[in-house]
Amino acid sequence: MKYERSSALFREAKKVIPGGVNSPVRAFNAVGGTPVFVDKAKGAYLYDVDGNRLIDYINSWGPMILGHAHEPVVNAVIEKAKNGTSFGMPTKIETEIANLAVSMVPNVDKIRFVNSGTEACMSAIRLARGYTGKDKIIKFAGCYHGHSDSFLIQAGSGAVTFGTPNSPGVTEGTAKDTLLARYNDLNNVAEVISANKDEISCIILEPVAGNMGCIPPAEGFLQGLRKLCDENKILLIFDEVMTGFRLAAGGVQELYNVNADIVTFGKVIGGGLPVGAFAARNEIMEMLAPLGPVYQAGTLSGNPLAMAAGFAMLKELNDNPQIFESINKKTEYLHEGVASALNENKITHTINRVGSMISVHFSEIPVTDFSSAANASNDTFKKFFHGMLNEGIYIAPSAFETWFICDALSYEDLDQTILACKKVATML
Ligand SMILES: *Cc1c(COP(=O)(O)O)cnc(C)c1O
Repeated sequence: MKYERSSALFREAKKVIPGGVNSPVRAFNAVGGTPVFVDKAKGAYLYDVDGNRLIDYINSWGPMILGHAHEPVVNAVIEKAKNGTSFGMPTKIETEIANLAVSMVPNVDKIRFVNSGTEACMSAIRLARGYTGKDKIIKFAGCYHGHSDSFLIQAGSGAVTFGTPNSPGVTEGTAKDTLLARYNDLNNVAEVISANKDEISCIILEPVAGNMGCIPPAEGFLQGLRKLCDENKILLIFDEVMTGFRLAAGGVQELYNVNADIVTFGKVIGGGLPVGAFAARNEIMEMLAPLGPVYQAGTLSGNPLAMAAGFAMLKELNDNPQIFESINKKTEYLHEGVASALNENKITHTINRVGSMISVHFSEIPVTDFSSAANASNDTFKKFFHGMLNEGIYIAPSAFETWFICDALSYEDLDQTILACKKVATML
């Protein structure tokens, strides 16, 4: 593979953009090497500035569930743009996408649109605090909820102790209101709750984790959280920014049959444009301004282009529910192929998969939480990543990321990926 033009563009970018990127993981710091600069994309393929064609398993980190430049979505954006791109006034398309989203997602009456998953999660915890009158939140080590201050708290040794900021700029005052728990460990959650009785407003989690690689909730984990929340007047927030409209039309609430109190969205809901959203039942959503006292706003929120893209995307998924089955089958096929390629070469690994989210951990032990994910071999992952890239297969440049399968992938693409994996496995 050639990287000349990407390398040159990266050098230029680094002069004027910190690290050359507008979001850190794009910089390839975890794997080394030069980030690939994209020229264009169509369906399952990325075309970079050096003329390489890559089979894409990132899909913009999730949104492009139907593949790149999907025509109904692109056309919706073009048509909308002709009539103006932003008004700061209400438009009909906002109600249309709200109606559609609320009809697809269980247990929610109203939805508010914002511009990113970060904003959605940040607003969701403010709403939970306003609704319950309590300040503290519980989050899980290894779960990502965007980059707002309350969430940039890393795993400490004792989960019951106060969190410590893992980013300079997050104040201790903020950090002390974020309590950490271990994913898939209900006893630990119960301990954190009892050590902070009547102070916890909400538990927020990725109900299927995707930001420490893919980690499914253990049997009974989500149900157990629901019960703990009900017993302690705590709101349960499902961060479905990654899983929403991907694992099922109704997301994880539908897939695992567990109700959350507030659900956050991003990624797929915007069809590739910057969109986030949060939703809940009426009594919670009516706490929001202008109906209630919890303030939240946005100049570009509900932007017509973004809403048109999101509406076109959700409509495709709603009208064609077989898409979910199709991507799940493709992912299962990939799972089997990659597993056998690695097994044939005696490469120790664990593959986690839920629906169309999959990740390969070079780990001897099952990966069920952040510490087991962190325990996997990063050296092997780096070699695997660069080997696959060299074969024209683009997976996320970090061992802590999930691969996203889009419906534009053909079985020939999957076979090509598995073949590449066989070749790379001999070099690990
Ligand atoms: C991507 C992601 C976010 C953040 O969304 P942005 O649009 O990047 O701000 C939040 N939560 C989860 C689970 C995510 O995967």
